[in-house]
Amino acid sequence: MNRDTVEPTATRLADGRAILFFGDGGAPSVGVDRRDLPVRPAEPATTIRRDPTTGDTVIVAPARQERTYKPPRSMCPLCPDPDGLSSEIPAADYDVVVFENRFPSLATPAGFVPAPTGGVADPLRVETPGVGRCEVVCFTSDHEGAFAALSPRRARLVLDAWAHRTAEMFARDDIEEVYCFENRGEEIGVTLPHPHGQIYGYPFRTRRTAALLRTAAAYRAERGGDLFEAVVAAEIADGARVLVRTEHTTAFVPYAAKWPVEVHVYPNRHVHNLTELSSAEADDLAAVYLTILRAFDALYGSPLPYIASWHQYRTGAAEGYLHAELFSIRRSADKLKYLAGSESGRDAFITDKTPENIAAQLREAIG
Ligand SMILES: [Zn+2]
Repeated sequence: MNRDTVEPTATRLADGRAILFFGDGGAPSVGVDRRDLPVRPAEPATTIRRDPTTGDTVIVAPARQERTYKPPRSMCPLCPDPDGLSSEIPAADYDVVVFENRFPSLATPAGFVPAPTGGVADPLRVETPGVGRCEVVCFTSDHEGAFAALSPRRARLVLDAWAHRTAEMFARDDIEEVYCFENRGEEIGVTLPHPHGQIYGYPFRTRRTAALLRTAAAYRAERGGDLFEAVVAAEIADGARVLVRTEHTTAFVPYAAKWPVEVHVYPNRHVHNLTELSSAEADDLAAVYLTILRAFDALYGSPLPYIASWHQYRTGAAEGYLHAELFSIRRSADKLKYLAGSESGRDAFITDKTPENIAAQLREAIG
């Protein structure tokens, strides 16, 4: 890592889950979780099945049906709770908090050792325990807030928290991929309005990552050089879709954007993950990221539902370039894009806005 690691204050929730407080300054006043929570299972509660026809992975997580669904504000599990009785965060206040998800899609219980598979596996019935890690990241204690409303300093603290978690998860052998993301807006199924994101530590390589790495390896074999560096350079040279270009960061609408609103944000220097950024690069990335999210909300004059998806790779990996992909299903002030036959049935997207047009609209929203 090129800079000092931010060290959180770490403690445990009533059922043993880890919770980490990242502070803007000074130690937070952390209380005690006094809830009577059920004991966590000793074995993973989910499984991972492989689709024998496509090779895709599906996480089967039936217990998640019981997770918290649109609670009233007084019951918000992400608001600070000094009494330690009603929320996940036993503290009078906080800056940024990360904790293990109570209803994880993936979790490796302490001491769990997967049973040896042994023998010849049936290729039509490949099912493995849902090991890995799922964490929740609260961006602010303000229930009504949004990432776009964070100060640059707080946005940077979120990046530092993501970097801390990325380093820890990539150090584990049961995690293949570390994925920081945010789902924002009821339109895309967010069940808790309190501003938060998640981090998944997958025990397998996801399909999208596999596709990116495969394309990058093929590009290197055919053309020499790094695909992602070439993509950023080509966008800068072209200019038609570039939204923001600063000393350390570039944001653009990708050449083949498939969502009605889509922006990719890259650090100018090729790094694999957030832990490799210098302090100046992390500050700049946080600032540009805020600019894009604010433009999203300005686009139609109302909060835009979006997904923010961070791509990270292990330090030293042959391929891969840290970047964020932000996109929305909203195609106008009052219309959503639905994933219908071509998109859902074939993964073949049809877009009615040119990427250059999306870029022009976003440039106007940035002002
Ligand atoms: Zn809340």
